[in-house]
Amino acid sequence: MAQVVLREVVKTYGNLYAVNHVSLTVEDGEFVALVGPSGCGKTTTLNLVAGLMPISGGDIYIGDTLVNDLDPKDRDIAMVFQNYALYPNKTVFQNLAFPLKMRKLAKPDIERKVMEAAKVLDIVHLLKRLPRELSGGQQQRVALGRALVRDPKVFLMDEPLSNLDAKLRVQMRSELKRFQRDLSATVIYVTHDQLEAVTMADKMAVMSGGVLQQYDSPAQVFDNPVNTFVASFVGSPAMSLVPLTAVTRGTDMSLQSPEGWNLSLSPANARKALSASSDKIVLGARHSTVRLHKQASPGAVPGKVYTVEPTGDITFVQVYLGAAVVVVSLEPSVAISPDEPVWIEFDQNKMHLFDGETTMALK
Ligand code: ATP
Repeated sequence: MAQVVLREVVKTYGNLYAVNHVSLTVEDGEFVALVGPSGCGKTTTLNLVAGLMPISGGDIYIGDTLVNDLDPKDRDIAMVFQNYALYPNKTVFQNLAFPLKMRKLAKPDIERKVMEAAKVLDIVHLLKRLPRELSGGQQQRVALGRALVRDPKVFLMDEPLSNLDAKLRVQMRSELKRFQRDLSATVIYVTHDQLEAVTMADKMAVMSGGVLQQYDSPAQVFDNPVNTFVASFVGSPAMSLVPLTAVTRGTDMSLQSPEGWNLSLSPANARKALSASSDKIVLGARHSTVRLHKQASPGAVPGKVYTVEPTGDITFVQVYLGAAVVVVSLEPSVAISPDEPVWIEFDQNKMHLFDGETTMALK
């Protein structure tokens, strides 16, 4: 297995920067998820590592080799796509053996490698079947096996589970993770499914508009988003963001809403707000750190319930604070209805503050 290094990688289509100076290092044996909204450049980044298209600038290393000008077949990578396209007229065994046959491996070596991969993926009992005689999850495992037999330095996966139904996806998620851990495989994995990224990845690379926004462990990305984009993209429901104006009175600092309410800041938060490039501050809060009161309460600010979404063990309530929406989670037993006036209390120790001009987190 091997490390993958992207250094200032650029891909342009005419004037469009599909990938804009992306630098990141995927350590040997690490599972990295590329995430971001549609069109952010995830697939393009993966395809550049694969060598499926030429880069416009920068360098890509796989192991110690600069691969910028290497053909895909010479990069020692294996790709697994959403459409796994097994050969319909070949058995599972033949599908797995095919890439090895192309490499002109001796028959006993082919048989040994196919059996090894089939054992890892628990498909030994399926080796004589045709793809149409397999379930979606089994087909996906065969596709993985086809990548696995090649013993590549790096696995590149583009939404490999997105064609499966929800239950199978969850099951394959844990299987894929186990297989990656057992093999200490280096994996770069494109997904639009955050849960997939959070549950499987050692690190998440969050992209927007071709730019790498944050590259860190899922926990760090969740707890310490570097800017409002990451804050609003990661987490379900996403972090609530409330644009406010910092106001100083004597030594006290508060955040004022366009509707006129004020939220006093703790000294630590006031210090953060003071470091902003203007008086525009965006307050960020995860649902679990926000309290909802049914009566006016000291330190709480007034709002109005917009929607109530019971999900079983937790009820999400969207509350309008002026034009901004804040999501609060409640026990299902709490009776609450749309249009009810409520008061929202933010936890000073858990709130996030962002620079309203630059969108960057204030530290
Ligand atoms: P999705 O989740 O929808 O697959 P993505 O994050 O994988 O999106 P990319 O497919 O990498 O996004 O595309 C990045 C940007 O590059 C998009 O704006 C897309 O329209 C553009 N793009 C991709 N391929 C081409 C192409 N061949 N010619 C011109 N523009 C392209």
